Amino acid sequence: MSTIRVAVDGPSGAGKSTLARAAAAALGFLYVDTGAIYRTVGLSARDQGVDPGEETAVAAILPPLRIELRYDESGQQRMFLNSRDVSEEIRLPEISRYASAVSALPVVRDFLMETQRELARKHSVIMDGRDIGTVVLPDAEVKVFLTASAKVRAERRCRELEERGTPQPFAEVLQDIEDRDFRDTHREAAPLRQAEDAVLLDTSALDFQQSLEALLRIIRERMVL
Ligand code: C5P
Repeated sequence: MSTIRVAVDGPSGAGKSTLARAAAAALGFLYVDTGAIYRTVGLSARDQGVDPGEETAVAAILPPLRIELRYDESGQQRMFLNSRDVSEEIRLPEISRYASAVSALPVVRDFLMETQRELARKHSVIMDGRDIGTVVLPDAEVKVFLTASAKVRAERRCRELEERGTPQPFAEVLQDIEDRDFRDTHREAAPLRQAEDAVLLDTSALDFQQSLEALLRIIRERMVL
């Protein structure tokens, strides 16, 4: 059987990674969190003291970067930067801002394109990001645009940060989400937008289980078409 590609795009904090990971586990597909790849580039820029908005400076750090995705025994994606496990570090709010800035640079998007496409050639995947259905995998068999209101997303992010032991005030988290939404949708390179053939899934009023069922229903319906 040929591989199936499921593209899940949407704004930050919509629950894409948790839901896509659970759906991938239910279907036996590989889950690819592309935001983690951009975060790893962002971390590298921070570590090297590079301004993440300076395209020439960021371009210079890319060629020697060794970015690897590995999967642990529970199927969890881990990110390695030059053989160092950076999976936890890339989740820091500071790195979210670096990731958002470097991901607006065409040189970074081009650099990461082949890595993403290669993964989808080898395995059936659920890939989550911002431009998977529009740019990375425009021929994906299933495309979902997953979203929720900014307020609901900020509430969820606050809970997550608290559980990680790095709590932040709600107002700051909301502001961060709104700023990132603005940057992600207004940038010139691969802006966040719903693909014409994507199914919209708004999880504002749904809990995790309901969202997962809705996502699986969309995927299964499209797979038998
Ligand atoms: O999804 P996550 O919040 O981890 O993504 C981190 C940043 O990477 C986002 O702010 C977004 O700008 C960027 N990104 C992207 N394209 C993707 C995935 C993430 O531009 N496919």
